[in-house]
Amino acid sequence: MEQKMMDAIIKHVDGEGLALARVPIPEPGPGEVQIKIHKTAICGTDVHIYQWNEWSRQHVHVGQTIGHEYVGEISALGDGVTGLKIGQKVSGEGHITCGHCRNCHTGNIQWCKDTVSVGVDRDGAFAEYLVIPERNLILIDDDLDEDVVSFFDAFGNATHTALQWLLPGEDVLITGAGPIGIIAAGICRYAGARRIVITDMNEYRLSLARKMGVDRAVNPLTTDLPALMKELGLKEGFDVGLEMSGAGAAFKQMLSVMRNGGKISLLGLGNGPIQLDMNEIIGRGLTLQGIYGRKMDNWHQMAYMVQGGLDLTPVITHRFHYTEFQKGFDAMISGNSGKVVLDWTSPAPTK
Ligand code: NAD
Ligand code: ZN
Repeated sequence: MEQKMMDAIIKHVDGEGLALARVPIPEPGPGEVQIKIHKTAICGTDVHIYQWNEWSRQHVHVGQTIGHEYVGEISALGDGVTGLKIGQKVSGEGHITCGHCRNCHTGNIQWCKDTVSVGVDRDGAFAEYLVIPERNLILIDDDLDEDVVSFFDAFGNATHTALQWLLPGEDVLITGAGPIGIIAAGICRYAGARRIVITDMNEYRLSLARKMGVDRAVNPLTTDLPALMKELGLKEGFDVGLEMSGAGAAFKQMLSVMRNGGKISLLGLGNGPIQLDMNEIIGRGLTLQGIYGRKMDNWHQMAYMVQGGLDLTPVITHRFHYTEFQKGFDAMISGNSGKVVLDWTSPAPTK
């Protein structure tokens, strides 16, 4: 029988770049679901794979389909899958976990030691069809905007990081106004934070963050943070810190302006070791929490926040047809972007 083929964005060379290719449509095995992709969003991880940095060379194999932020509909069910219907709107948790370890058993799938990542360790969602295990499937209510759902995966990282702590009335510092930092700012506002300050050196991104309702979006190199805190009425320091840049300098700056007893969650992935004065953490009683991936409950929280009025559309800065994916990656690489959404169902634009 002739194999049915589809379009996919693949890592085609052992070097920089990605290509559109014809690859076989994946069929769902037992316990798996096939998804017809509607929209996808580009993540910083996809940009790393595009640029072919050391990390991606170790994880991704040449020929693989990439991408892990998506929304679509169920198009086929594997043997033994029950309770789901063709046509249901879905997204999916991108971390496929073992299901048997202590963390999986306690609902902390984000800490499974045997995680396999969609679009990194196995074929991903930048394709007309994707196959994932049934238990990774997330049902999506029809009233949710598909452009926003396309980046629920990243929204999940922001939700996990921000909702780690009680936020009502708290003063929050977010370091890094990348898409995830900006989304986190929106969550903090929605969840009732008092003051929200976000830092970045990229003016384009600071202006996007202002659209999400932050009190101040500032360049940490040119802004005197203690003076700004005074102006905003902060007496003892920030109560909550969300580190979303991965920059050691940003984390050190955060430590210097936290209230004694403050809480910090760390999402940004650093480039290597940094030097710290441990006494800044110990003597001031700070709590630090590393954040990896999302909790399954975050998917429910995200849908409810959007249905409750959290508007994330300002984060979307570019929309392209998938055949124009190069323009999307160019926008991401320029730094002058928020989320870039690719459309997989509309007809390709005529040149
Ligand atoms: P991004 O790279 O688009 O944004 C990071 C931002 O930090 C950039 O805009 C950059 O200009 C800014 N920045 C750099 N140095 C800074 C400094 N000293 N002070 C303030 N800002 C500074 O990344 P993103 O997609 O928004 O993701 C945020 C971070 O989270 C990244 O580090 C990413 O690798 C990481 N991440 C982690 C997980 C996880 O599971 N832990 C998941 C997704 C993303
Ligand atoms: Zn596990």
